[in-house]
Amino acid sequence: MRTYRIAAIPADGIGPEVIAAGLQALEALERRDGGFRLDVTTFDWGSDYYRKTGAMMPEDGTEQLKAFDAIFFGAVGAPDVPDHITLWGLRLPICQGFDQYANVRPTRILPGIRSPLADVGPGDLDWVIVRENSEGEYSGIGGRAHKGLPEEVGTEVSIFTRVGVTRIMRYAFKLAQSRPRKLLTVVTKSNAQRFGMVMWDEIAAEVAKDYPDVTWDKMLVDAMTVRMVKNPRSLDTIVATNLHADILSDLAGALAGSLGVAPTANIDPERRYPSMFEPIHGSAFDITGKGIANPVATFWTAAQMLEHLGEPAAAARLMRAVEKVCADGVMTPDVGGTATTRHVADAVCEAIRMEN
Ligand code: ATP
Ligand code: MG
Repeated sequence: MRTYRIAAIPADGIGPEVIAAGLQALEALERRDGGFRLDVTTFDWGSDYYRKTGAMMPEDGTEQLKAFDAIFFGAVGAPDVPDHITLWGLRLPICQGFDQYANVRPTRILPGIRSPLADVGPGDLDWVIVRENSEGEYSGIGGRAHKGLPEEVGTEVSIFTRVGVTRIMRYAFKLAQSRPRKLLTVVTKSNAQRFGMVMWDEIAAEVAKDYPDVTWDKMLVDAMTVRMVKNPRSLDTIVATNLHADILSDLAGALAGSLGVAPTANIDPERRYPSMFEPIHGSAFDITGKGIANPVATFWTAAQMLEHLGEPAAAARLMRAVEKVCADGVMTPDVGGTATTRHVADAVCEAIRMEN
């Protein structure tokens, strides 16, 4: 029997609610499949931990995580703790410490969920956005001179390296190649940003030579937002910088119906370290404790995790169960339903048990 060690970090807000639902579904899959076992260790890191100890996780936190096969993450953020502590104290050290440079965000319209786009339903929009997750605009380099004075200057430096761009480009071409349409769109802003972005375009053309069966094109990020709305069927796999993909994937999530259904995987493609799987949404304190958080994003990222671990059959089974439950209308209020998190989780587990 294959055993995978999973580190669950539910953390803040609705994180514990959706991770509980996700673990419930994973257990149902484990029982149903019989071929693998998940050995889950839950960590109490996050804002509560910060209030008690002054840190979001122990100093050797990432060291402790190294022994695991994957990290199943909830959400970070709390109204009374600043982002630079929550985000930079837990999520980013994991992403950066484990060099999870490929951030993979599938988007598709699930049955029963309405897109805000007219005439766009399941099958019309099926994208994977690959976000560069280790450099670019979020390098953290820059500064402020003459702070508070009229002559103040703030700089924010984007760093693009040949190594960094080449490896994300390879990842994206390979992913595009593995999908039926073999279609990749490379997004930049190389008309206005003339150095790093031009390098990005050049490296795309170089890497493309190794993937002759992939059809690819280039888009400027502004025009890309229009294309996503006007012609969603023309897109399949998309690769963009840290900042651009961040923005595009929020748009993608909205077009697919709700942030509550959007998953993300932070992958170390070289598998030197554990990869991390999480819903895109944050801690959502406005609905915390009400029992109505949509667990679908967390189910979907659990499926990404199973796929990454080498259990594609279980991943596909989970997604079929999620789609069935959505099609049956068992949905939380954010996507127009009346079900609770618990109802949706129970229905998904039942669908996993009952499937032929
Ligand atoms: P953070 O600072 O942690 O990113 P945020 O409040 O900026 O938090 P989100 O937590 O992502 O952003 O929430 C944005 C909105 O989407 C909230 O109004 C929230 O209620 C809603 N939302 C987010 N996730 C879900 C979910 N899983 N189910 C239902 N609604 C959700
Ligand atoms: Mg947010």
